[in-house]
Amino acid sequence: MAPIVPDGVPPGQQSQGPLTALLQARIRQCGPMRFDQFMAEALCHPRHGYYIAHDPFGVDGDFTTAPEISQMFGEMIGVWAVDAWLRLGCPDPFALVELGPGRGTLMADLWRATAHVPGFHAAARLHLIEVSPLLRARQEATLAPLSVPAHWHSDLDAVADLPIIAVANEFFDALPVRQYEWMGGQWGERMVGLDAQGAFALTLNPATAQPAPLSRVLAVPPALGAALGAVRETCPGGAAVAASLGRRLGRCGGAALIIDYGYDGPAIGDTVQALRQHRPCSPLLAPGLCDVTAHVDFTALATEAQAQGAGRATPFPSPGQGDFLRAMGIEARAARLKAGASAAQAEAIDAALFRLTDATQMGALFKTLILTGCRV
Ligand code: SAH
Repeated sequence: MAPIVPDGVPPGQQSQGPLTALLQARIRQCGPMRFDQFMAEALCHPRHGYYIAHDPFGVDGDFTTAPEISQMFGEMIGVWAVDAWLRLGCPDPFALVELGPGRGTLMADLWRATAHVPGFHAAARLHLIEVSPLLRARQEATLAPLSVPAHWHSDLDAVADLPIIAVANEFFDALPVRQYEWMGGQWGERMVGLDAQGAFALTLNPATAQPAPLSRVLAVPPALGAALGAVRETCPGGAAVAASLGRRLGRCGGAALIIDYGYDGPAIGDTVQALRQHRPCSPLLAPGLCDVTAHVDFTALATEAQAQGAGRATPFPSPGQGDFLRAMGIEARAARLKAGASAAQAEAIDAALFRLTDATQMGALFKTLILTGCRV
């Protein structure tokens, strides 16, 4: 993990990092900021944002993701990608896109696993959508031994117009959410202000305008779910990426696989969580120093993508990651890896398989959504 050098931070606040002081100054000057704007700064502030200044993965970091648990995960995504490519009629060239590639592990495993599929590598144009310069460098280093020519972008819209096969693992949960709280009689939007001691504190701003995705989320009748203090969330950034995927799928054909923790809407409450060194903490405590995520509203993503041109959103409601990986053949792959492995290695393979697929582990918590273009 890269150290963050405090600059201009008043004594006593250094453990909260430089972003705390910057955001407190901004709130003192301009008033409370929307929760999603606070989350965006915490994650992607150009200098002190969590993803900009950290490599957060693994036992020394704040969390572990599926590709970091076992090579089998990326390999199974490779099976899915090849199947999608074959169903599309083997387009050459096509854009192989990963959104939020982390350390590049998933793509490296996918690439190795697809090496023997005739024509797949030659046809693939690899595009990685990544906001963090630090993680881009990490991805480049991971992919270098494979000699894959890759292109980096901050935005999916920058990818050339080709049939697309896109994957996103734990990407959408990193996109900021707006939060609305039932005030009795009306919804208020959660803002981040300062309490009497100058620490971050939530305040409410009565929500007046209700754009379309919001009205769907806030339409839940008070009697059914909106007790005083009930919370609803929307993810404008996620909706924008889903819309971009939908437009691309409609125009050029292709398929997109989204894996994340989340729910089939409508919204279910306050799902924001923060992690620092694998331990839960408040998302307001130390912006820029802890990972902040929210559960993904799969219905919102599918609705947005289809409104913009995606053909189908299947299978839906989303099956869990466990069922998806089993359907791709992860058990056979584990058996193959175990043949010829030492007893300790075989035990590690079984443990990884259990963690990725079992319903008590990641198998049910994580869901999958596949979006297709009209031509699949
Ligand atoms: N898919 C990886 C990493 C998940 S963490 C894995 O499974 O291990 C989220 C990833 O999305 C990180 O690479 C982070 O830098 C990137 N990211 C977060 N917000 C982003 C944004 N707005 N645009 C592009 N990439 C973003």
